[in-house]
Amino acid sequence: MDDKKLIQITLGVPSPWFVKSVELNTSEERVDIYFDFIKGSEFACPICNKPCKIHDTKERSWKHLPLFHYESYIHARVPRTKCEEHGTKIVDIPWSRSDTGFTSLFEADVVALCKEMPVASVAERAKIHEESAWRILAYHVNKALKHVDLSQLDTIGIDEIAVKKGHKYITLFYDIKNAKVIHIEVGKGKDTIKKFKDTISKKINPEQIKYIAMDMSPAFISGASEYFPTAKIVFDKFHVICMMNGTIDDIRRKEYKTNKTLGKTRFIWLKNPENLSNKEKKKLHSMKDLDIKTAKAYQFKLALQRLWLVKDLAAARNYLNKWYFWAAHSKIEEIVKLAETVHKHSYGILEAIRTGLDNSIAEGLNNKIKTVVKRSYGFKTVKYRNTMIYLVAGKLELSSGLPTQC
Ligand SMILES: [Zn+2]
Repeated sequence: MDDKKLIQITLGVPSPWFVKSVELNTSEERVDIYFDFIKGSEFACPICNKPCKIHDTKERSWKHLPLFHYESYIHARVPRTKCEEHGTKIVDIPWSRSDTGFTSLFEADVVALCKEMPVASVAERAKIHEESAWRILAYHVNKALKHVDLSQLDTIGIDEIAVKKGHKYITLFYDIKNAKVIHIEVGKGKDTIKKFKDTISKKINPEQIKYIAMDMSPAFISGASEYFPTAKIVFDKFHVICMMNGTIDDIRRKEYKTNKTLGKTRFIWLKNPENLSNKEKKKLHSMKDLDIKTAKAYQFKLALQRLWLVKDLAAARNYLNKWYFWAAHSKIEEIVKLAETVHKHSYGILEAIRTGLDNSIAEGLNNKIKTVVKRSYGFKTVKYRNTMIYLVAGKLELSSGLPTQC
């Protein structure tokens, strides 16, 4: 078999295209493959698909996957059709999308690698500029996003995360049942919820959203009530305990000023008891019954966590009322304040218990996203931050539209 035929078959070049010549440059470790088309061929107008005569052609090149560790490039003269109705148009070519200097197989490889390693490493390995790798990734992520199916979406989660020091935030919208990020907005205000609604309204009726899980941010509550008036607001366990942990941490930090035994105990009070190391357990055991505010606040947390073990709604309501009464009389200023907040939002906490809505998957995704965002602190621009978040947390069908053979 000659080399042209070998390449023709392995690349799966369809008629009227054929491999005209192959040039091997051993000193540069490079292969250049020249495609051509059969003389007199007609090509489909890219708009109406009608077979048309060729108006003219333009030389183009695409970087392809390495062949036996040699960098490879495809070259061809790409025709423009002259359609009676649509005028002159560049034809669709089977091995690449328009406006890219890479073959579809090459792009598929870049996208697959970006799931596994940092984009800069992918670019280095593929011997392309990092910006090119980002552009390929962003194109395929955006394309896949357009095809995300929201038809069954009825429960969403909203979360804000800091993306820069100096209080810059983005708001993430989750499809909780499928544990994936479906939308990202800059900021953490009420308007992010309006923008989310406007976006999903292009695909679904927003009234199909039945539950919205979130923290107790007044902006989110107000936005959800205004833009999703038929949805129920749910304050899930993760967010309630997060708030409780924030309060414990405040108390500990203040108390540490006069009680140095609280030094290096931060995570002991914040972690769940079952996640503590033996050393931490011993430390906790020696401190948890002390007459200090931090230890008392910790007891309020354990008691609040037990609320989620109560499965009967009436019993849960009763339990929460008792907890509120106890916490409101704790004489610890921060706990009293927290008790009032919990009491005011008990409708949404009880809704979480009634529906059994669990946001722990989003919590896991959140950690993944935070890692990505932290990495993006160093980016010259943040333009690919969303691309990266969707890549790690969007569960996108990135391979759809990308070939296994060109
Ligand atoms: Zn046409």
